[in-house]
Amino acid sequence: MGYLSHVECSVCGAFHDPKELLTVCEKCGQMLVARYHMDRVAAAVNKEDLHRRPPGMYRFRELTPLENGEQLVTLGEGSTPLLSLTRLGSHLGLQHLLAKDEGQNPTGTFKARGLGMAVTKARTLGVKGLMLPSAGNAGGAAAVYGARAGLPVAVVVPRDTPAAAVAEAILAGARVFTIEGTIANAGQVVAKVARELGWFDLSTLKEPYRLEGKKTMGLELAEQLGWSAPDILIYPTGGGTGLVGIWKAYQELAGLGWVKNRPPRFVAVQAEGCAPVVKAWTEKSPVTVPWENPVTNAPGLRVPSPFAGRQILQVLRDTDGLAVAVSEAEIVEAQRLMARMEGIWTAPEAAATLAALLRLKDAGHLPRQARIVLLLTGAGIKNPPPPLPPPLDLTGPEETLLERVKTALGR
Ligand SMILES: *Cc1c(COP(=O)(O)O)cnc(C)c1O
Ligand SMILES: [Zn+2]
Repeated sequence: MGYLSHVECSVCGAFHDPKELLTVCEKCGQMLVARYHMDRVAAAVNKEDLHRRPPGMYRFRELTPLENGEQLVTLGEGSTPLLSLTRLGSHLGLQHLLAKDEGQNPTGTFKARGLGMAVTKARTLGVKGLMLPSAGNAGGAAAVYGARAGLPVAVVVPRDTPAAAVAEAILAGARVFTIEGTIANAGQVVAKVARELGWFDLSTLKEPYRLEGKKTMGLELAEQLGWSAPDILIYPTGGGTGLVGIWKAYQELAGLGWVKNRPPRFVAVQAEGCAPVVKAWTEKSPVTVPWENPVTNAPGLRVPSPFAGRQILQVLRDTDGLAVAVSEAEIVEAQRLMARMEGIWTAPEAAATLAALLRLKDAGHLPRQARIVLLLTGAGIKNPPPPLPPPLDLTGPEETLLERVKTALGR
């Protein structure tokens, strides 16, 4: 017996039995969410017990959908550091600038949390194979967890998906298909084919457990901040799983009485070339509409029609948050700045959080003392690097070696 009580629809509230393999709401087709027996959770664990547990996202097992003794499909995801960005902070005149570095997860992105949890549950519930559309990182993560679970995996990605994520999936034995267009086109293929194959569709938020994996970011963040919330949390938003997940974590922790202050104000960051959430937010619309011709070099942000657009916008409203779009040039500049000032080569999506921070700072939206967390969703090495000067080759006459080095170093 675990702590999950039921799974319910985020829109119509219809109950669903978690012993079944669940996808979306049977009644209205919307996103499902897991609910727990909070009284049992509260009786089973306290903050002090948690401190003594080994690292990893399953430390919070009472707030996960796991049954007692359920076999995990894990590579050690979670327990990523909350880094203090002291140099960048003082450069920007901010006293408490922090980054949760999800690039330190297996597969180099936070997708490991969601897919690790979803594959664990899918295997327990007896699926034959896994299929999903992806901008790259989700497909790579599904492939590696599928390999560990001994399940076949098929991934459909846009043609221009970064090579590292495609290689990661193929190396792990997945079948990778490409398609012209975006993750939305890939999603249409999976919707048509997975059911016929009898394989399980792991699309973002079209099953309830990827969200529970990503939720553990919020549980960790709260613990790392001494069971509190930051003032502002800046999140690069594609499908929105992490944003909704972190918000859900703070809801549950408030329910347990572990976190007393208000949840963070969520800032959803998107790229100017694909900003359905920002557009809906600006127009005060409760739902997103599909973005025409999405273009950005941040693959995880090229999601023209997030399935959970409505829920993302709800989180922004509930937390007095906001949505910001940044340009490709700002993303590249932020990626360079983060590496130069703090030594973190972060993914373009993640760099977008810093680009948004710079905008908010310039607009005077950020008090000096605010506790601000940038959610760095992935490692830079999974994407092509930004344009860089070439290294200097030192092959040549030995007499001039020192001079050449000195000139290059400006000494
Ligand atoms: C998938 C992805 C995102 C977007 O995440 P969502 O939770 O779906 O909004 C951001 N950054 C990276 C590196 C990603 O792989
Ligand atoms: Zn419903």
